[in-house]
Amino acid sequence: MSKGSILITNIQRMCFHDGPGIRTTVFLKGCNLHCPWCANPENISVLPQNYERNGKRGTYGREYSDSELLEEILKDRNFFGEEGGVTFSGGEPLLQIERLRSVLTTLHQRGISIAMETALQIPYQAWKDQADDIDHYLIDLKILKKDICNMIIGGDADCYRANVRFLHEKGKDMIFRIPLNHEYTLKEDNLCLIEEFLEEYKDVPVEIFATHMLGNEKYKSLGLEEPVWEKVTDTVLDQIKERFEKRGIRAKIARI
Ligand code: SF4
Repeated sequence: MSKGSILITNIQRMCFHDGPGIRTTVFLKGCNLHCPWCANPENISVLPQNYERNGKRGTYGREYSDSELLEEILKDRNFFGEEGGVTFSGGEPLLQIERLRSVLTTLHQRGISIAMETALQIPYQAWKDQADDIDHYLIDLKILKKDICNMIIGGDADCYRANVRFLHEKGKDMIFRIPLNHEYTLKEDNLCLIEEFLEEYKDVPVEIFATHMLGNEKYKSLGLEEPVWEKVTDTVLDQIKERFEKRGIRAKIARI
């Protein structure tokens, strides 16, 4: 990839669930994790990938220059209103934070709200200089037991905890998002760890949702095996919300 270019799979406009207000969501390609329930498999590899879908061929991932990306985002400026703005998602957007540096700085200077949807598994020392350009952090909360976290998603639970502490101490606006599935995140010992962890951050709102199979067509298009899940029911989501609330954790359900 040429210097300064940003690898993007999709720019989605008029999004209502990716942070406050109406937002334009930019999906960056490349992730350092491998969650078995990932709904965006096309965003995991750091390289462009050819695909075939319903007889149509294409490539996941296109490089944007800073000015091209800014132009795309600023087209939507009139829709953002008071609260809205741009959300960088992925993949793991922090992987490309160096390449995003000038775009983030410009958006920040122009007063455009910036959110980042992140698994927060990259040491903060690597992105702390840009941390204040980001207004809202939408933070995945998945598996907290160190060995299981590493084995299942390839993550580092200690790094995650240190990053959350770093942002919290800075007073950044945060929300935790917990993807729920019976196979991994809903295991009783994981839920207990999540509760203990959230008790340290009672001022941070929490959103829970069931993992889904909406990304399965994309697995197929890449020639990958499609994951099959028993979808967590609304009743279970209600029970988890109630359980969290009993511990003073502010939880809401996002029904997908
Ligand atoms: S962090 Fe997100 S994009 Fe990366 S593998 Fe997990 S679910 Fe997929």
